[in-house]
Amino acid sequence: METIGFPRGFLWGAASAAYQIEGSPLADGAGPTNWHEFTHRRGTIKDGTTGDLACDHYHRYEEDIRHLRDLGVHAYRFSVGWGRVFPRPGNINQAGIDFYNRLVDCVCGAGIEPWLTIFHLEEPLWLSRLGGFTNRAAVDHLAELGETLFKVLGDRVRNWITINEPTVYAYLGYGTGEFPPGRKLALRGMLHASHHLLLGHARLVDAWSATGRPGRIGLAHHAVWVSPADENRARDVEAAAFMDDAANRSVLDPLLRGSYPERMLKRLHRFLPRTLEADLPGIKKPGTYIGINYYARNLYRWARFVPFLHAREHVKPDSPRSAMWEIYPQGLRATLLRLKEQYGNFPCVVTENGFPIVESSGKDPLQDDERIAYLADHVAMVGRAIAEGADCRGYFHWSLMDNFEWNWGLSMRFGLVRIDFTTQQRQWKKSAFWYRDVIRANGLR
Ligand code: BGC
Repeated sequence: METIGFPRGFLWGAASAAYQIEGSPLADGAGPTNWHEFTHRRGTIKDGTTGDLACDHYHRYEEDIRHLRDLGVHAYRFSVGWGRVFPRPGNINQAGIDFYNRLVDCVCGAGIEPWLTIFHLEEPLWLSRLGGFTNRAAVDHLAELGETLFKVLGDRVRNWITINEPTVYAYLGYGTGEFPPGRKLALRGMLHASHHLLLGHARLVDAWSATGRPGRIGLAHHAVWVSPADENRARDVEAAAFMDDAANRSVLDPLLRGSYPERMLKRLHRFLPRTLEADLPGIKKPGTYIGINYYARNLYRWARFVPFLHAREHVKPDSPRSAMWEIYPQGLRATLLRLKEQYGNFPCVVTENGFPIVESSGKDPLQDDERIAYLADHVAMVGRAIAEGADCRGYFHWSLMDNFEWNWGLSMRFGLVRIDFTTQQRQWKKSAFWYRDVIRANGLR
């Protein structure tokens, strides 16, 4: 049997995000966010649920941190609900800060390193009303949030994730409309938002450096492995190259090379911010590592009638799939090696990887062997990439526990720990025991 070991000091963690687990979105002076508003709009969430209660982590965080401790994770990635901290522009809500103070103390008290995401897809509604990140002013508001958190939590939090997935915020919010604000095919909004998020990241990197504190800071990129539906058709190859620009290089290139992909500039120039060129020198500020969130591969076919993109997603009927995406572990290895080969081996951390399951009657929800198989294949790919020279420092499982999976609602489950959303009972799935053993062994058999 093959054994895959990891370097000493390799970081094993688990991840979550505020709106997805906390519940009580308006408690103790918090202001509504884009997600609170969106989930209360009819027809937005596939199963009709909201994050009003979610995992009730707002009240049960001590129990949840005990699960993390028992799993033996070294690090816990979680995010801050912006609306709790700034319910109104410029107005700090001390009760919101107090909650994150207690949470950070609890994480540290369990001997776990906090990894804090400043912006995880959730913005206060007052900011959405100004256009969210399509408005460049959002960069200043984000900087204010970051500086506040650095000041109040920076004595204990040394690992920061500035922004989670600029492309997901931009493309799902302004392209497919599956995320708030729910706009479709708004190319201008999409490209402005993702550009401003990168600017926001750079501002946060500067603000953290200005504190003079040691630590790690980076952005979590939603990496998709992109391939042509048919590698022998030149047009599919071209369509895939363009979609790879949009999905990956639109983030990696500005951050790590200080440029946008040529093809994207050419085809989409009329939708891009006018300040783009002038902003570029200031955007090449990756921080100290890049986070890679990896789940799947997308295949593309050339599509003449799809305006501007000329690409359409293609699903191979015979390829293995989860409830959401194609399963393609090789894409994780390829992504890590791509950072090595094309981006100067910039240090990276896998900040998310996980497997969705919808429960069905007659099947024991705790026996999640498919998840274990998926995780084993992906963790093995991380190990292989490291053996091949990729500079990957850690791996976070998404997610600690079942939670509110955005537009899919509560029924799409990613947890190691099962949540009974009626009783709020927590129970370890088979994958939790499996992950605990991987961490203990610092490797995989
Ligand atoms: C996001 C998470 C999400 C996960 C699974 C990532 O895109 O950062 O918030 O739950 O993927 O879809």
